[in-house]
Amino acid sequence: MTDTRPTTTDAGIPVPSDEHSLTVGPDGPILLQDSYLIEQMANFNREIIPERQPHAKGGGAFGRFEVTNDVSAYTSAAVFQPGAKTEAVVRFSTVAGERGTPDTWRDPRGFAVKLYTSEGNLDIVGNNVPIFFIRDPLKFQHFIRSQKRRKANNLRDHDMQWDFWTLVPESAHMLSWLMGDRGIPKTWRHMNGYSSHTYSWVNANGEKFWVKYHWKTDQGIEFLTQEEADRIAGQDADFHQRDLYTSIENGDHPSWSLKMQIMPFEDAKTYRINPFDLTKVWPHSDYPLIDVGTLTLDRNVEDYFTQMEQAAFEPNNQVAGTGLSPDKMLLARGFSYSDAHRARLGVNYRHIPVNAPKSPVHSYSKDGAGRQINGSDPVYAPNSYGGPKADAGKTNEVLWQSDGEMVRQAYTLREDDDDWTQAGIMVREVLDDEQRARLVGNVAGHLLGGVSEKVLVRAFEYWKNIDKELGDKIEQAVRNGT
Ligand code: NDP
Repeated sequence: MTDTRPTTTDAGIPVPSDEHSLTVGPDGPILLQDSYLIEQMANFNREIIPERQPHAKGGGAFGRFEVTNDVSAYTSAAVFQPGAKTEAVVRFSTVAGERGTPDTWRDPRGFAVKLYTSEGNLDIVGNNVPIFFIRDPLKFQHFIRSQKRRKANNLRDHDMQWDFWTLVPESAHMLSWLMGDRGIPKTWRHMNGYSSHTYSWVNANGEKFWVKYHWKTDQGIEFLTQEEADRIAGQDADFHQRDLYTSIENGDHPSWSLKMQIMPFEDAKTYRINPFDLTKVWPHSDYPLIDVGTLTLDRNVEDYFTQMEQAAFEPNNQVAGTGLSPDKMLLARGFSYSDAHRARLGVNYRHIPVNAPKSPVHSYSKDGAGRQINGSDPVYAPNSYGGPKADAGKTNEVLWQSDGEMVRQAYTLREDDDDWTQAGIMVREVLDDEQRARLVGNVAGHLLGGVSEKVLVRAFEYWKNIDKELGDKIEQAVRNGT
């Protein structure tokens, strides 16, 4: 069908030409009054907005979350009540790479879920791994810098990565995971997602629980070997994004089962592991997974920039019946995510349709760059002119008790709190011989990528602390140059 629509300016005015600027004679100078030419040039110069720091490269899709089990004993959140169906958007990403880097480089993957619930947006902003490299937010900026580029030459550098990791032994559990098979998922469809953090739930009777969200892939876990991933990186840098888009386009809709670990509120005081330490899991034998429902992705984005590049997820988006926890990393992310969105997208980033709730907004915020809807007076509360009134009865907030001297120190150690034990359990009890052999190969290959002798020596000790036999094999492989 022939398109008969005339090209217009952004003001809707038909333009005289798609090809020729206005000049004085065919060979003469360009005229400043060619406002369409100027609009095109000016717009082009502003197309690229700052990329996310980190999690720059990513993609995702829309879908729905459906509750299949009854967890009302644990939360009053409408989104988790039996039979509830809620629209969702999900973004997957790599962490350290920039907007154009290959999808198949070894890295954790972001797994960010926004549920447009009837009580406001609930965001579970997690990764494809249940833990993280650090437990204190003061280290986060330093950690990410060590994974990105050097100041002097703008190069990524394995020495700087291992220098940081080996000086921060709390990274051991996460690194054992990252260097193993799950460090390069075959596709985004073939990986799990985890809240990683501990969050909280509260039921209609006010009983509180500490919870961890697990999005278990229904496609099964699959991974790429280092060799496969390296080859694909050269052939198709957008391999994961293309896979998701194509699958959904072909009607093959990926899904994940939401399962929760739920800890009674009082258990946290005496549990043998600090339940808020982001470098630890709660063993399933202590807190088994409880079924909640299914997340299905069935609709591709139609405008990547407005629906995905500008999508803004934030852990502070907690709805009635759900909440945060004393996890220091989580509490810091509460500030840092909304701050990042304000810096990258502007103060009114929640007006961008992908970020806007589908439930009513009655906010006293006003004005600011890019604001789309301002509502009407009054502009202050309390007021006697019919403005909205806060209603604590609708919030069902999860609050907890805290006291003590102000200090700068790590979480108080408990019986089973150290940096190596859970990493060792994974290496010895979860991985099989073939997986352990690939782990040795992946670590040795990475260490052979320009790590200095002094850092190498620390790296061997680090792996021996996780598992002596594994560390010995890694040292041997590096010294043999294999
Ligand atoms: P379980 O035996 O109950 O669980 C082991 C977990 O390990 C499963 O969730 C499994 O995920 C996951 N897993 C299997 N293969 C790998 C792999 N190659 N890389 C990473 N994870 C893998 O034991 P526990 O709960 O007692 O945990 C034991 C260890 O397992 C922990 O120290 C931790 O390192 C790791 N782990 C624990 C998780 C938890 O939340 N408890 C979650 C993920 C890992 P799946 O079911 O999808 O195959």
